[in-house]
Amino acid sequence: MKRLICRMGNPILRKRAQKIDKNSIKTDGFRQLLEDLKDSMDHYGGIGIAAPQVGIDLQLALIELEGINRYGEEINFPLTYFINPEITYLTDELQGFWEGCLSVPGLRGYVERPKKVRVNFLNQLGEEKEIVAEGFLATVLQHELDHLEGVLYIDRIKDFKLLSYQEEFEQFINTKALD
Ligand code: ZN
Repeated sequence: MKRLICRMGNPILRKRAQKIDKNSIKTDGFRQLLEDLKDSMDHYGGIGIAAPQVGIDLQLALIELEGINRYGEEINFPLTYFINPEITYLTDELQGFWEGCLSVPGLRGYVERPKKVRVNFLNQLGEEKEIVAEGFLATVLQHELDHLEGVLYIDRIKDFKLLSYQEEFEQFINTKALD
């Protein structure tokens, strides 16, 4: 069942989320939360969502990329749940994408982030996992995991001339976008 999205201004988006107790991962309540997050992401049309965005103070995010790309690149990343993720930046080299966020609706902003990251996390079965990501996926991961630290993408915009309403973005800029 979808849950309501918390928007910028809601303090839950501005605090560090609580670590998840490993023992709670297999409980019915937690499974329901995973399902609700997935339903919310699909309903609102995101490619990722973090628990604080639905008002849940837990270190949990999910990402699913299916063949999309407004960049001309094919990209597929199966539905993955990130529990208590730890991110490591593997390069200082930056790449920029136009980002958007369900919690900051109607806007797009250009954000530069490190090109390559490693993420260590627990999956929905409580198993330890590690992925190394580059390119678009690296940006999506950083965007979602930032939510668990109380950071929004707008905090990372360096040039506020590169912040646009969605309609104007499509009319005047329309090159690279990230849902
Ligand atoms: Zn977001």
